Amino acid sequence: MGRQAVKIPGPLGQRGRGRRRLPLRRTLLPAARFLGDLLPRLLDMGLAAALLLVISPLLLARGVASVLQTGRLFDFDELIGRCRTRIHRLRFAGSGPLKGLAVWFSVLKGDLALVGPRPLSPAEAAAVPVADAVRFSVRPGLVTPFGVKRQVGIAHLGESRIDRDFVYAQSVKGDLGLAARSMVTGVLGGGAARETPPLLNFFGIPILNTSMAEAVDWLMAVGASGHGAARQLAFVNPDCLNIAWHDAEYRAVLLAAARVLPDGIGIHIGCRMQGVALRENVNGTDLFPLLCAAAAERGRSLFLLGARPGIAASAAERMQRRYPKLRIAGTRDGYFDVAEEPAVIEQINASGADLLLVAFGAPRQDVWLHHHRDALAPPVRMGVGGLFDFYSGRIPRAPVWMREIGLEWVYRLLQEPGRMWRRYVIGNPLFLYRVWRQMLSPERFALPPERVPATTEPTP
Ligand code: UDP
Repeated sequence: MGRQAVKIPGPLGQRGRGRRRLPLRRTLLPAARFLGDLLPRLLDMGLAAALLLVISPLLLARGVASVLQTGRLFDFDELIGRCRTRIHRLRFAGSGPLKGLAVWFSVLKGDLALVGPRPLSPAEAAAVPVADAVRFSVRPGLVTPFGVKRQVGIAHLGESRIDRDFVYAQSVKGDLGLAARSMVTGVLGGGAARETPPLLNFFGIPILNTSMAEAVDWLMAVGASGHGAARQLAFVNPDCLNIAWHDAEYRAVLLAAARVLPDGIGIHIGCRMQGVALRENVNGTDLFPLLCAAAAERGRSLFLLGARPGIAASAAERMQRRYPKLRIAGTRDGYFDVAEEPAVIEQINASGADLLLVAFGAPRQDVWLHHHRDALAPPVRMGVGGLFDFYSGRIPRAPVWMREIGLEWVYRLLQEPGRMWRRYVIGNPLFLYRVWRQMLSPERFALPPERVPATTEPTP
């Protein structure tokens, strides 16, 4: 009897098309890896060399000025670089303009890259958590992922975590994209340091200038309080403020809310026009996962009301998969008539939820919450717009690069041009025009004095 070859199922039993080429691969792979590592460095060096060449007359003049002033050409900051080695970030010695141009010599030398985590001082480097130490495996950069996000107010995860994610996902294409985005955010968020007042004023409506982390803490604290301390929170974008400009009822609701939070790049630009700075873009869509994480950790429960049938339930299910300890007290769609309202409110109250999120779109959701404020039991009530559509996956959100340069609204416009053109194409310039009008006659748009202490009250 002839011996039969035993067939092993699965990949082990297959010869594999590439097997014969294995020795070739073994030689080529390290070479490819080496080139992959080298390419960004070559790009940085090429760019720095080209730039230094182009601006060489300026460098010469600046260098002569430095030597005449101080007898030295350069000063430097000693910082922590790749593999925790000490590096020098150069600047021209003495006082006067163009001192910073010398930093391109640090790039040429290899101490800095064009894109990378921020170079840290020795004390800062010692404080980096072990889990995020991977940031030291790459050269620190002139353009930093955290800096780009912070300039448009979407750096919610903290620098250490953003740097870690950057290092794991780094590529030449990604670096070039980040450098391009930093030019855009530099124009939007750059310029001189501005004051960040605790309250922003848009059309006489006080908007709390806060951070995502602080807003979540506040929600958790109020969520633990009883019905007597119930608070309503609203997010406003330029479209909401345009509505509040002529809708007296909505305006009164925003004035009565415990907190109004700034949502979107339009508010950021409006702040710049007024000569102040927005601390963070505290929008409901970015806040939601942080809220779910905190609620899961601290045992607070959520009720999701609104959007088309099945959408709130699907968003709830997805978030529960992401945060297994998250307690969803109940969900319900947002398509019911006035006669059904008592039953809806009864369902919410019977669920025992600590936080009620209502997604009917602005201003309906905020007015509805205000109207039923005494009947509703959850201590925290907030209007969240199209949030459940995003988190159920019904409507995809703009890619991160678009959000980073403040173009999420363009993505929304392209998704639903028929519904959104008025909001964005007409609404955005109209909003900026109204901000300008407010600047011309600020006395007409003063904040109501009695609202100021209530809105800036400390965390309960
Ligand atoms: N919606 C609702 N009931 C209604 C009308 C609208 O639940 O009677 C929901 C709608 O399905 C969508 C949300 O309200 O999920 C409104 O989304 P939009 O993007 O307009 O809100 P925005 O964030 O712009 O305020």
